[in-house]
Amino acid sequence: MRTIHVPLPGKSYDILIESGLLSHVNKWLNPEDKYVIITDDNIPKQYIHTIQQQLPYTLTIEIPHGESSKSLETVDTIIHKMLENGITRSSKVIALGGGVVGDIAGFVASIYMRGIDFIQIPTTLLSQVDSSVGGKVGVNTPVMKNAIGSFLQPKVVLIDPNTLQTLTKRQFNSGMAEVIKYGLIASKPLFKDILETDVSSNIESIIASCVSIKRDIVLEDERDTGKRQLLNYGHTIGHALEQYSNYALLHGEAVAIGMVKMSIGMTYYDDLLQMLHKYALPTTYEYDKEQLYRYITTDKKASGDDLNIILVEEVGNGYIKRIKISDIQSRL
Ligand code: NAD
Repeated sequence: MRTIHVPLPGKSYDILIESGLLSHVNKWLNPEDKYVIITDDNIPKQYIHTIQQQLPYTLTIEIPHGESSKSLETVDTIIHKMLENGITRSSKVIALGGGVVGDIAGFVASIYMRGIDFIQIPTTLLSQVDSSVGGKVGVNTPVMKNAIGSFLQPKVVLIDPNTLQTLTKRQFNSGMAEVIKYGLIASKPLFKDILETDVSSNIESIIASCVSIKRDIVLEDERDTGKRQLLNYGHTIGHALEQYSNYALLHGEAVAIGMVKMSIGMTYYDDLLQMLHKYALPTTYEYDKEQLYRYITTDKKASGDDLNIILVEEVGNGYIKRIKISDIQSRL
């Protein structure tokens, strides 16, 4: 068992990583409490049953899988079900699934009766290395991804890498894009590991490395006004591409292309391409530059005429640079 502590003042929590952990979540979750398990219709039922067997008082709410569920309409549906079933302020929300479930469930927990406790049980690689940690929760609107949201740190994050065994190769690889991102922005040894080894044989330690990097960044900048923006490496173009493709591109796939665009001319460019090929991640996409640019101008990272972009000149050392929004066009 690997434990990564997040000592945020007044809201500290642990991230626990262990293969098989799902079958003993009741060590960390009190079976006397009432829980709302929010999950999606594509998550293997065995995971839901394993948790239900340990926690007798649960209401399970299943939403349709996919990014289109990350909306205010879904939040409304979930909240109505919770109210109809007598969920009170002392109940706790469990997010069981990928980043979509985690973002919606966390957002619901942050607003239900002005906020209730929230537990993350992430089951995709992307959510285990990234979205389940750090407390950013929210939903999309048709014009902007993640436009509505809040911050709510989970009470605990329970990561069982065994759940990755049922994930499709494409979804696993999408998560690998975020793993590669961590290497580029913060860890040369991680970057080398991804390039030279088979990460699936070493997945627990890879997850722990990524989570530790994210923990350190979140501790310095919980509210995303400074250093946390490093985690957006490749995401300005990536988010725009996700929307442009109408979510045909998975999050990690769009981020992979975004990272390629941000690393043109850098010494590690060929290594990055090799890595992306290794994990069957796309490196290009057909798009209309003007339309993509319009998505970028509505990005939350833009303010006025300026935009903070993340650059990596030397692997492991990402930095933030403020540019004129129009300057991003040279990268498209
Ligand atoms: P996802 O939640 O859509 O999950 C992908 C698919 O895998 C879904 O169909 C799901 O049902 C299925 N699935 C999940 N676990 C499974 C398992 N163990 N076995 C089989 N199938 C499984 O996608 P994702 O990539 O996990 O998350 C993407 C979302 O995360 C995006 O909305 C993105 O904006 C968000 N995100 C949030 C943060 C944050 O800090 N809050 C950070 C990064 C990304």
